[in-house]
Amino acid sequence: MTTPFNLETHVQFLKSVGPARARSLDRLGITTVGDLLTHYPRRYFDRSATVPIGRARPGTEVTVLGEVLTSGDRRTRTGGSLLTVSLGDDSGVLFCIWFNQKYLKNQFRPGRKVMASGLVQRHQGRLQLAHPDFEILDDPSDMAGAEGAPAGLHTGRLVPVYGLTAGVGQHWLRALVHQSLEKLADQTPEILPPEIARRRALPSRAQALRDIHFPADQRALHEARRRLVYEELFTVQLLMALRREHDHRQAGLKLEKPGDLTRRLVESLPFPLTRAQRRVSADILTDLRSGRAMHRLLQGDVGSGKTLVALIAALFVVEQGYQAVVMAPTEVLALQHGVVMTRLCAPLGITVETLTGSTPAARRRAVLNAAAAGECDLLVGTHAVLESDVRLPKLALAVVDEQHRFGVKQRGKTAATEQGAAHVLVMSATPIPRSLALTLYGDLDLSLIDEMPVGRIPIKTILARDGDEEAMWEECRGEVARGRQVYVIYPVIEETEGQDLKAATVECERMRHEVFPGTRVELLHGRMKSKEKQAVMDAFTSGEAPVLVATTVVEVGVDVPNATAMVIHNPERFGLAQLHQLRGRIGRGKDASRCWLLCDRFLSEETWERVKFFSEHADGFALAEEDLRLRGPGDAWGVRQHGTPGFKLANPVRDAELARECRDDVEALLKSDPALSGPQGKQLREELARAWAAAVPFMAG
Ligand code: ADP
Ligand code: MG
Repeated sequence: MTTPFNLETHVQFLKSVGPARARSLDRLGITTVGDLLTHYPRRYFDRSATVPIGRARPGTEVTVLGEVLTSGDRRTRTGGSLLTVSLGDDSGVLFCIWFNQKYLKNQFRPGRKVMASGLVQRHQGRLQLAHPDFEILDDPSDMAGAEGAPAGLHTGRLVPVYGLTAGVGQHWLRALVHQSLEKLADQTPEILPPEIARRRALPSRAQALRDIHFPADQRALHEARRRLVYEELFTVQLLMALRREHDHRQAGLKLEKPGDLTRRLVESLPFPLTRAQRRVSADILTDLRSGRAMHRLLQGDVGSGKTLVALIAALFVVEQGYQAVVMAPTEVLALQHGVVMTRLCAPLGITVETLTGSTPAARRRAVLNAAAAGECDLLVGTHAVLESDVRLPKLALAVVDEQHRFGVKQRGKTAATEQGAAHVLVMSATPIPRSLALTLYGDLDLSLIDEMPVGRIPIKTILARDGDEEAMWEECRGEVARGRQVYVIYPVIEETEGQDLKAATVECERMRHEVFPGTRVELLHGRMKSKEKQAVMDAFTSGEAPVLVATTVVEVGVDVPNATAMVIHNPERFGLAQLHQLRGRIGRGKDASRCWLLCDRFLSEETWERVKFFSEHADGFALAEEDLRLRGPGDAWGVRQHGTPGFKLANPVRDAELARECRDDVEALLKSDPALSGPQGKQLREELARAWAAAVPFMAG
């Protein structure tokens, strides 16, 4: 390499990365060399632990080395694909299977040597690994560009195994990471103050990066991980502490009218507020009256009635002559909020407008004009309401629904409206375990709705396998016959989106013609135009279409109390928190509801346990805690998806001890240098500003 390169260099400029591979890397969230260094291994092959295939036992984790004997794919009943590869050595044969990962097929040419690692399952008398981690040992395309890598790279004792995508091979990526580490590990900035690193006996950042990728032994790996986890926790906690500090200094609009509109709203409802709803509403109104800007997180399990609390807060503000905005993470949810809030507000003479990314231009202009003129009291929408041409001169309150979906970065943005002092209420249905809340939401005051509206009947959750399907559909038809409604949920996973969407479409046809003949069945997915989505939601909400086949777009917030049944295909592909959100779409009315989990035939023990855990637990907190323990916060909490330098390794539940130490350190640090203005503090501030600029507008200055 002749051109000098640094952490910000685009990966495309690395040797052996062309535009095509750069695009593939981009899918993994890797655009710069720095991203590459923090693309941490998913696991490690312990090469000394390879077992002969004949000795692989069901229920054990193994790493095997074999030759591809056969490989073939076929369509599954529901329109997906199943790739099966047989691997053999002198001692036996083992099968590896992948669903909907057709692109892998070409790599498994007969004769190639493959190392695969995973949990051995017995299926129909033969042994298999489902979605194993693997490495093709003699793939020429994967080896290309890997020359120059030291001989021990792929065969040392602990070998990193990375998450891959089409066009990125294990060997190749490993060599690329290695090459980048050699050049740049020493240039990565130290974020931790030296005396903290010393006190906590943490290795240097450069050492930790080297060891997390290519550890000499388990101990080195452990230390590297500890250091990197600590750093993740430290930056987030410091940031939250600074933000809290900043927010608390902000003056807020002082709102003093008694809340007559609010009272009229509550009186117009067909039910009384729950005690919890009354308590959190009081918390909020106290904030709004205090003269200081509110920054509050409202947590309440799915169906606990947060929307109403948001509306109460909004009306309180409107009554004083101000405007409020309610933001939802998806279009479906924004439109639904628009409908519900309009219905409740119209009799009170309050004007509600809705704005999303696909509001037609003329309509958008009208809404913007009304907003700018102060004629629109309440604006409901997606993040489209944050666009720069949206003027709300009298904005006093911003409510952010299903906050976890926006990620930490957008959260900062929502607080930085043109009136710095607008009150902010964020709501989340994903119950956040306390350990995580302290770390991730340390900048917010917390309110909890810990009680469900009376009269809710617990949802019955049933694990179903292929053989149970007919009986299950019969039950669903029964619900439809009784005038109830049914959700059929299909997973659409980003990586394999095209194929998944096709599967959902095929399934919808099957529902129409075979399962629910003579019943109107509608399909809803994220790629549809907003008009189509709205039409489908209207048909389902009104009951004209009793059956809705949907992808996870219904996951958050959709409220159709007449729906009493839900079938979730491949629940194993969802996380627990997400499953909980999905299931929360039913059981909202007075009637008993049932949720069927239609599981795949090939499930690992661990996956089965997870799905079973879900079927046995209805409490969102228990599920969230378990989800967090199993998967870490990245997937479950929307931190990773948004590309924030949040948690890649840290798991505040598992790393609770370290998180506590870290909190002490942050506290001590801010005590000695509250504004981070000392020499050490300045450097820290610069680092934070660099990494988190978008999340913390006040840091930039
Ligand atoms: P979430 O907290 O998940 O956002 P919603 O606000 O969508 O829940 O409320 C779920 C359903 O419960 C809605 O149909 C709403 O009208 C109803 N609901 C809200 N509060 C009460 C209450 N106090 N008593 C009875 N039903 C209520
Ligand atoms: Mg909601």
